[in-house]
This record gives sequence, C-alpha cells and structure tokens, in this order.
Amino acid sequence: MLHFYYGVMGSSKTAQLLMQRYNLQQLGIKVALVKPAIDTRAGVDVVFSRAGLEANAEVVLQPHHSVREQLMWLAVQNAHNDFQFVLVDEAQFLSPDQVIELADMAENLEIFCYGLKTDFQSNFFPGSSALFRLAEDIQEVPGGLCWCGKKATMNTRINEQGQVIKEGEQVLIDNQQKIRYIGLCYQHWRQGKAHA
Ligand SMILES: [Zn+2]
Repeated sequence: MLHFYYGVMGSSKTAQLLMQRYNLQQLGIKVALVKPAIDTRAGVDVVFSRAGLEANAEVVLQPHHSVREQLMWLAVQNAHNDFQFVLVDEAQFLSPDQVIELADMAENLEIFCYGLKTDFQSNFFPGSSALFRLAEDIQEVPGGLCWCGKKATMNTRINEQGQVIKEGEQVLIDNQQKIRYIGLCYQHWRQGKAHA
C-alpha cells in the first residue's frame, strides 16, 4: 500500500520516519530508506531531523531516476534483497512519474512517503499533488505549531531578518541559512507575521 504522511514544517515528519524505520529494524524487517537528491541540507544522502535523529539514505533519487530501477539496483547490490518496507523522506520532491512508479510497486510493498503538502505560496508540490491523487492511505503528521500557539498549516519562507517572503522560486534551499522555513497558522501566514 502507498501511504502519504504529510505535515507542515516543524511537525517532526523525519523524526517519525526514522522512528518507524528503527521500530521495523528492531523486528528484523528490512527497510529501504529513500530520499530525493534535491534536499542538500545535511549532505547528499543524510536523512536528518531537527529533533537530532539522522540516518544515511540507501537510495538518493535524481529527478530523472526510475524509482523501480534504483530499488532493484539496491536489492541486487546488497542484503536488502528482501526489503518489505520503503520509506521516502522529503517526498514532495518526487516527480509525478516517480510517484506513479511507487503506486504501482506498492501493490507488493509497504511504501511510506513523508513530506510537505504545499510550498511557501500554498501551491502543491508536484510530488505532493501526485501523492494526494494516488496514495491509498493519507494521514497528517500532527504537532506543527504557529508562534501564536495555534495549529500551523502553512509553510512559510523567511529571510535572515525573520521577514516573510511571498515571492520566488518554489524550491529554494539555502545551506547558509539565509532563508528558513517555518510553519504558521493560516491567519498569520496570510498577514505575513512570522513573530509576535
Ligand atoms: Zn498564528
């Protein structure tokens, strides 16, 4: 089955993914950890959570990669030849074609995709849109809070001065931390208020 666990920035999606992986591994179940290459915050293959957990992805997907081929290569390469679970971090960066491949593969595998629903302008990421269309199980990862204490639902891009940025490319990742992403409630996202 294909699962999509979506959540706002700061909702500990990656921590939940890494805990799920740990729990499965404790039971002796083989897991393949996958991430799209576009997220370079913590090195190319590191899956990193703000809560401090991290692991190395076994498959780093480029946009043109076939997920099926990459997972078959992983199975041939090493002892993962009988993995039953596939966990995908930052799944919003999957291409729609990759999501279609995952949906087809999920007839025989448990595939959990963790990622954002929308970008800083509230538009779907192409990968998230495809996951909403095709995933058989869709759940929200709770826990993201706005500074006002209300539930955060909106992803927000802010600059060094803590000001809300409303214009720009959909994907902009700055490893020098000149821009950051936070979760805001709808009201404060709409008003562009990133703090009290
Ligand atoms: Zn708020």
